[in-house]
Formats: sequence, C-alpha cells, structure tokens
Amino acid sequence: MTSTTSPGGDGSTRREAGRLTAPDCLFCRIVAGEVPATVVAENEAALAFRDLDPRAPVHVLVVPRDHHADVVQLAAADPALLAAVVLLGDEVAEQESGGQFRLVFNTGSEAGQSVFHVHGHVIGGTRLGWSPA
Ligand code: AMP
Repeated sequence: MTSTTSPGGDGSTRREAGRLTAPDCLFCRIVAGEVPATVVAENEAALAFRDLDPRAPVHVLVVPRDHHADVVQLAAADPALLAAVVLLGDEVAEQESGGQFRLVFNTGSEAGQSVFHVHGHVIGGTRLGWSPA
C-alpha cells in the first residue's frame, strides 16, 4: 500500500513498499536500482557507491535507503538511521582508506549540496589538507 508521509516536513515524500521515497530523486533511483552506480558496500539501511566525479583517491557516497533531504532532517526524523549511515561510511573507509577518512554532509545549496537526498561524502586515500572554501 502507498501512503503519503512527511518526514522532516517534506510533504512530497511517500512510503512505497516500506521505503520512504521522493519523486524524481536521483539517489532514490540509485537505491531502487533504476540508475546504475558502482556500489561498494550496503546493508538493510544504507548504500555506499562511488562518486561520479571523485575529488580524492577514495570518494564514496553513503546514503540511507529512505529519503531524507539533508543530514539535519535525517537526524531529527531517524537518528538511528544517521548512525547507520556513519557506520557504513566507516566500513567503506576500513576497506579502502585504512580506517581514516573525512565524512562531509553538504547541507544546503550555499554549502554545495546539489542532491537533496542526504549523503555523506567519504573522502580519503591520501593525506587531506583543510580547505573548505
Ligand atoms: P553534493 O554536491 O554534496 O550534493 O554531492 C552530490 C554528489 O553526487 C556530487 O559529488 C556528484 O559528483 C555526485 N553524483 C551526482 N550524480 C551521481 C551519480 N549518478 N552517481 C554517483 N555520484 C553522483
């Protein structure tokens, strides 16, 4: 059964087959297998796939399977799911980056967010400088 919900105040989010989804959301389509991605780790709650435009030797996106627009909305709606996203990021970093990594959640377009399905950028595989601007 399909019903409308509004986690985090996003009225367009729907529950379909037990999963929160949003229409025309690129990362919901990757989670559903409708758009190809190079998946490197996954579990019941979250998926990790390589960024199409990597900025470091390791650059993987970790996303919850459920749709939440950004990390603040996810933290408010489902803190355990946010923890699952962080732990999957750590699993990827253990596999690919010696367990050391930067985890970046761009939040809002002015901060560089371009896809409004929360995702953590797992960045590593090299010594990282600090230049957020
Ligand atoms: P942000 O700008 O923080 O919203 O990050 C979105 C990220 O998604 C960017 O780093 C893009 O390179 C990446 N991206 C966009 N489309 C895809 C895709 N189809 N598969 C993998 N990564 C993607």
